[in-house]
Amino acid sequence: MAKGKISVQTENIFPIIKKFLYSDQEIFLRELVSNGVDATTKVKTLALRGEVKGEIGDTTIEVSVDKEAKTLTISDKGIGMSKEEVEKYLNQVAFSSAEEFLEKYKDDASIIGHFGLGFYSAFMVADKVEVVTKSFREEDGAVRWTCDGDPEYDIDDAEKTSRGTDIILHISDDSVEYLEENRIQQLLDKYCKFLPVYIKFGTKIETTYEGEGDDKTAIETEVDNIVNNPEPLWKKSPNSITDEEYKAFYNELHPASQPPLFWIHLNIDYPFNLTGVLYFPKLVNSVEVQKNKIQLYSNQVYVTDNVQEIVPEFLTLLHGVIDSPDIPLNVSRSYLQSDRNVKKITSYITKKVAEKLYSLFKDDRTEFENKYSEVGTFIKYGMISEEKFNEKAQKFVLLKNLDGKFFTLEEYKAKVEGTQKDKNDKIVYLYTTSPKEHYSYIQSAKAYGYDVLEFDNVIDNHFMQNLEYKEGGVTFVRVDSDTPDNLVQKDETKESVLSDKEVEKVKELFTTALGDLQGGQIDVKPLSPDDHPVLITKPEFMRRMKEMQAMQGMDLGGMPDMHNVVINTNHPLIVEKLLKMRSADKKTDFAQYLHNLAKLNQNMLKGEDMSKFIAKSIEFMS
Ligand code: ADP
Repeated sequence: MAKGKISVQTENIFPIIKKFLYSDQEIFLRELVSNGVDATTKVKTLALRGEVKGEIGDTTIEVSVDKEAKTLTISDKGIGMSKEEVEKYLNQVAFSSAEEFLEKYKDDASIIGHFGLGFYSAFMVADKVEVVTKSFREEDGAVRWTCDGDPEYDIDDAEKTSRGTDIILHISDDSVEYLEENRIQQLLDKYCKFLPVYIKFGTKIETTYEGEGDDKTAIETEVDNIVNNPEPLWKKSPNSITDEEYKAFYNELHPASQPPLFWIHLNIDYPFNLTGVLYFPKLVNSVEVQKNKIQLYSNQVYVTDNVQEIVPEFLTLLHGVIDSPDIPLNVSRSYLQSDRNVKKITSYITKKVAEKLYSLFKDDRTEFENKYSEVGTFIKYGMISEEKFNEKAQKFVLLKNLDGKFFTLEEYKAKVEGTQKDKNDKIVYLYTTSPKEHYSYIQSAKAYGYDVLEFDNVIDNHFMQNLEYKEGGVTFVRVDSDTPDNLVQKDETKESVLSDKEVEKVKELFTTALGDLQGGQIDVKPLSPDDHPVLITKPEFMRRMKEMQAMQGMDLGGMPDMHNVVINTNHPLIVEKLLKMRSADKKTDFAQYLHNLAKLNQNMLKGEDMSKFIAKSIEFMS
């Protein structure tokens, strides 16, 4: 037996390896299994070149646990190593790259998927590591390398007769979880599910049935437990894949999810290599829970499901897989965003998603509209957050009106341009956020011949703002933000039934009767006698500011729910009734009552106010 010493620069690196990445120790299995995959790929390549004698045979990699011996073994039938190679690759190459890795990242745990620690990650969970290996070159004898966690190692001849490498980890006492089959199965599912070489972990019972009806018998057979699918869907050519296969793959990635709405197959070689399938999920209510469901792979090796730095924020709503060896994984996360390849990848994905949406819109608009309640949120989110996407989405983002009809921006503009242009040449887009609550406002707007859009989304506020900014001559106004005549401001003056003096009197009367309006104003207007006698309006600008602040969780202490009160001085109840009342008390009572009616119409009458209002109504009637 020969002893050797790994030349160390950092004094005793092993305890550091052990402590390092404490929270991410489990990646050791990925590192070791992918080494096995690499070794297998190499031997296959050599065989193709005729450099391997005989058949290469089965190349399944085996992972096994021996609880009694407290070992976890990873065996491959790959290229193997000769004695010289072990010294070179394990003692020098692997060691110095681990050392370099630690040197670089010991203070920065943010690197993606902790990629690249390699072989020496074994020492995160093992006290002692044995490597028994035999090269594909028949003349080279088998070798056993043993290292028990300090820079000294033993190297010796071994018995092994078949080609390949066994990595035997003597699991340390504080890592016994890696002797549990469930735990290993879970790790293999997470990290190795799509590795390109078959990986076996023990056996499982497979049940098949023979015969029919009463004669039907279950036959149980013990078969290899293969943990991976070496030819994942995203690696195949898009035109060879059926819709059913795409859906089945989605189900494999996200068991028990609703079927996706549609998907995008990514496949590019130049200027970077990237494959993958992104699915558009059926959105459930909360946007948050849907996030972080894109898995990042590098040559089929799982890296992470935290892809924020690679995929634009709004696209993190998508599910699926991205596989790219061109994403630098051994750099810190903060560096990633500025990486040129990553920038290109980001804009490539954005472009693909926009193209897909456009083709869905163009090819089957009805279907696109049917899905719009889900897709729309996503499109708006994208338009707000990504300039490039915004440009593209101008063609397919839709507005929906109260008749349930959908319009592109261009179509809608054409529709309302004639009727809804105001005195400043701005086109006013009227909208409601609640057809129920704004019922009477909507009716009034319609009576003026206006069209009303429906918005119901948390991000609509931002979306409108964005469109106003982008489109220039367009402004969004909620139906209850002003009196119906003034929603689209025109220069017409209306005929007043009352004289200026009488109007002044009405205003005074209401000012006294209504008291403090907390920042709101009282306005008098000669509206149509068919409009309500008193109206409550919530100025668009103020309301939107408030909503935005609320959305950002800001304190609204200083900002009351401001509303204005508009008195329709052409209404018969004002002209014929209120002004003709004798008693000042009665006038006040009546004015307050009309104000309450208006509040009721805005769903603003609550609690004690409501109960007083009802009592008053009963009094009036009797
Ligand atoms: P990397 O795999 O990134 O090169 P590692 O530290 O994991 O770094 O491994 C260093 C080297 O050791 C590999 O490049 C390879 O030559 C050799 N090696 C590791 N594991 C195996 C294996 N299972 N079979 C053959 N060679 C291996």
